[in-house]
Amino acid sequence: MSEKLGISHVAMGDILRQILRESDPLADKVRPYIQKGELVPDNLVIEIIKRRLNSLEVKDGFILDGFPRTIKQAEILDNYLGKERAIGKVINFVTPDDVIISRLAGRRVCRKCGANYHIKNLPPKKEGICDRCQGELYIREDDREETVKKRLKVYNENTYPLIEYYRDKGILIDFPGDLPLEEAQVKLFAMLNEIKKGS
Ligand code: AMP
Repeated sequence: MSEKLGISHVAMGDILRQILRESDPLADKVRPYIQKGELVPDNLVIEIIKRRLNSLEVKDGFILDGFPRTIKQAEILDNYLGKERAIGKVINFVTPDDVIISRLAGRRVCRKCGANYHIKNLPPKKEGICDRCQGELYIREDDREETVKKRLKVYNENTYPLIEYYRDKGILIDFPGDLPLEEAQVKLFAMLNEIKKGS
């Protein structure tokens, strides 16, 4: 989506994993939460996202992925962005838990560029190697079944209420999250074109 629209993809989980890899001073603070599948405290992720969004040009749009995950994060984000950069649309990928569990169990991630694969749905050309950059593919520690179940519980308690938060603002779009990849892409791009036409 970010390539298609020519705008930045700001993924909170990717930023946090980069902090862990680079032994950033914040690494010891965030590691235990990620390992357990819990949310990193709001004050920390809010500081991190503000730093990242500050570095983007005001005129540029962006896709936020994995942020916000709590009502507090959403409220602070709204205040921070103000009217000029306000969130335009929120896409809610509606996906049954069993599909999420099997997707994450088969997920492989590139250590170098962060590209995602799936052993059945989107296998790399060469097993264990990234098609894009030849980096090594690995299994995220928090994709183990027990941790995924914990993450789903955390989602239901903390993140699920955001659906009503954004529906009330009239900017929520429900999108089926269990379509085959190609069908999902076609539908998603058609939807993005509609949004662009309307803006
Ligand atoms: P993700 O790559 O989006 O699945 O995120 C991986 C992990 O990073 C989550 O399970 C949380 O531990 C942490 N994380 C990512 N985004 C946030 C957020 N907005 N608030 C708190 N923790 C987060």
